[in-house]
Amino acid sequence: MTVKSRFAPSPTGLLHVGNARTALVTWLYAKAAGGTFVLRLDDTDEDRSTEEFAQAIRDDLIWLGLAWDEEHKQSDRLDRYAEVIEKLKQDGRLYACYETPQELERKRKLQLAQRKPPVYDRAALDLSSEQIAAYEAEGRQPHWRFKLDREVVEWDDLVRGKVVIDMASVSDPVVIRSDGSPLYHLCSVVDDADMAITHVVRGEDHVTNTAEHIQMFKAIGAEAPAFAHMALLTGASGEGLSKRLGSLSLESLRDEGIEAMSVVSLLSRLGSADPVEPHGAMADVLAGFEISRFARTPAKFDPEDLKRLNSKILHALPFAAVADRLRALDLDAADETFWQAVQGNLDVLADAVAWWHIVHDPIEPVIEDVEFCALAAERLPDGELTLETWPAWTGALKSETGRKGKGLFHPLRLALTGQERGPEMKNLLPLIGSARAKARLRGENV
Ligand code: GLU
Repeated sequence: MTVKSRFAPSPTGLLHVGNARTALVTWLYAKAAGGTFVLRLDDTDEDRSTEEFAQAIRDDLIWLGLAWDEEHKQSDRLDRYAEVIEKLKQDGRLYACYETPQELERKRKLQLAQRKPPVYDRAALDLSSEQIAAYEAEGRQPHWRFKLDREVVEWDDLVRGKVVIDMASVSDPVVIRSDGSPLYHLCSVVDDADMAITHVVRGEDHVTNTAEHIQMFKAIGAEAPAFAHMALLTGASGEGLSKRLGSLSLESLRDEGIEAMSVVSLLSRLGSADPVEPHGAMADVLAGFEISRFARTPAKFDPEDLKRLNSKILHALPFAAVADRLRALDLDAADETFWQAVQGNLDVLADAVAWWHIVHDPIEPVIEDVEFCALAAERLPDGELTLETWPAWTGALKSETGRKGKGLFHPLRLALTGQERGPEMKNLLPLIGSARAKARLRGENV
């Protein structure tokens, strides 16, 4: 069987780490099996869906490295849904309901007060033609529900194992709004069937929906795909993420300088039995990917983990992988030597800019000990400096002054960079150059 999976976001907001994880796992599952990945935009909610959000989702997926083989959107397929709806009405699987939201809420409260499960009572099935005529005369438009079979639905979930749901405790889902527009459930099933989706990966909040969908697949004469329900993400101490999701959008992470591969490295393994490791390339992530390794329990997402991964990934990235992006940061002249000198000191790529300026533009040197720095300037060789200069130069200063350790190195770093900490001086010194280094050691702002 050729695997075909799909990611089906609603373009009503930005992707956050939660749905990015679904997208990533869905993509990895297909690609690890040599299969096809579909992007499907669930845009039947006309009021909230926008092309801007759809484009932001595409941009985020591209940024993550999740190319798709097909793209569809539900608003293009309304005729097809209408056709299926007509057939299901003829088959008696859909029934018209006239309750207002307030009436439904009242029923629900009453059921709860009587300690009964708040399952829709199917009162609409008992309406007489006079009652229906009266509602319509009042101007009420019906919404339509899918009549579930009151049976037990089971499936073997790729993450959760065997799932068993008794449909006696589930309300018949509304599949057509009172304005006649079809809702997610039926559209999703029709799409998955028509597009020959073999695997549906989504969040565990969809488990009950899946039981309903399995009956809908049967009702339209299609085979249900396999399902994998990912446990939800929580915050570091187990709290729900929903309130913070705004700040955890991919867009905001990108703006903070988080590398796409940091997000991919973390989300591809978080909540699985496999360790989270920094990966610089998607091929490595793909190689060890195994969906059955994911646990059923919620996974803790900690933005600090992302930051740590980010530094590790930057520290190992070859120059070729960042050359274009350094140019985009206006570091046109940055070369491999510069990259190798500073990469070990970056939390985010943009930190390279400050180091570029420290090496190439005037700084305010910090002179802790005028005499020592003047001596150091005298002892620094003229002309081209190399990676050997620093150990030889500081070695000579050590013998001459008796200084060692921090007392030897720190005043030199402060004078040469104006900073307490930074990349290894052995690497920076040749970039600063002899003339500028000597001037800085004498306290000049160069
Ligand atoms: N649009 C639905 C959502 O974002 C899709 C769920 C699914 O994968 O079927 O929750």
